[in-house]
Amino acid sequence: MKKIQMVDLQSQYKKIKGEVDNAVLNVIDDATFINGPKVKSFQKKLEEYLNIKHVIPCANGTDALQISMMGLNLMPGDEVITTNFTFAATVEVIALLRLTPVLVDVELETFNIDCDKLEKVINNRTKAIVPVHLFGQPANMEKIMSIAKKHKLFVIEDNAQAIGASYKFKSGLTMKTGTIGDIGATSFFPSKNLGCFGDGGALFTNNDDLAHKIRGIVNHGMYKRYHHDVVGVNSRLDSVQAAVLDAKLPHLNSYNKSRQNAAKKYTESLQGLDEIITPKFANGCLEICDNCHCHVFHQYTIRILNNKRDDLAKHLSDLQIPHGIYYPIPLHKQSAYFSKNYKDDDFPNTILLCDQVISLPMHSELEDDQINFICEKIKSFLK
Ligand SMILES: *Cc1c(COP(=O)(O)O)cnc(C)c1O
Repeated sequence: MKKIQMVDLQSQYKKIKGEVDNAVLNVIDDATFINGPKVKSFQKKLEEYLNIKHVIPCANGTDALQISMMGLNLMPGDEVITTNFTFAATVEVIALLRLTPVLVDVELETFNIDCDKLEKVINNRTKAIVPVHLFGQPANMEKIMSIAKKHKLFVIEDNAQAIGASYKFKSGLTMKTGTIGDIGATSFFPSKNLGCFGDGGALFTNNDDLAHKIRGIVNHGMYKRYHHDVVGVNSRLDSVQAAVLDAKLPHLNSYNKSRQNAAKKYTESLQGLDEIITPKFANGCLEICDNCHCHVFHQYTIRILNNKRDDLAKHLSDLQIPHGIYYPIPLHKQSAYFSKNYKDDDFPNTILLCDQVISLPMHSELEDDQINFICEKIKSFLK
């Protein structure tokens, strides 16, 4: 059996080494390191893949979130709602811009923002909602878009973990996650579903004016050379990273399909144990298709009951089976984001999940014997 890794980037690279090496060497030969033709080419391909008018590449996913809030002109004091159960970057940029983060509890089943609780925290200072499609599963965009419309709020999708996922509305309309709200923000961090060989990110929007504004913001607020109309940042996707992504994008659907197949095998194998709750697949769907909700399994995250999660984690460590706890601490308990306005009673699900979740190895190169081995060890421990 091949050595089990949480994410196996080497095996993935080996299969497309020729394409990727060529693309990268071309950039080096041409010395077009910043804003080279590969950046444009990747941008166009991604616009087509997502069926969106504008993709604006940038330096990383955290910047993409920050720039989206700058682009929407959010001002200090504006309240921005997001989930308590996410990677800190989502709330970090809200705080950095001196906006006021308002954290909301998640649903136990999907790990995504609880829309009933979301609506309760809206007031006249609320300006935007940032749903996170956590672990690759789309948040309830039907409900979120209708709440946003009713209260005239912006929607910024944190799509860092869900590129390639799609969401089906009751009307039958299907859209890729990240293209539904006013803006989508994504990350190309190496371990994400579409990863480059360093840092990278992008913003998505169908709004021409917003796209224009954002293209300036990522480049020092310059719309004409050395004319700075707004305060911007320096946030570019460099050409080497764009070349890698340009070569990898055509494989994204097959990577996501492999993740779904691995998830399916985990779930089949882990059935029938009282102390494990396997993740919910939205709509029971396990295919990449254009007409249903899909879950692209950035993580395969299970819940371990009866306070056994930490013992299981230790057991897996002893067996050298990699695993992750995403996320061990609710954001409202982190010193940086603590506020006396929050009460533990507001976040029962987040608090429970932080004690119960464990993520198993998940990537496009997982093999059946590896999954079987992992599941056997979990089962024998919990028996
Ligand atoms: C990875 C991630 C980010 C940040 O992306 P970077 O490219 O690492 O800056 C933001 N939000 C979520 C949910 C993420 O998983």
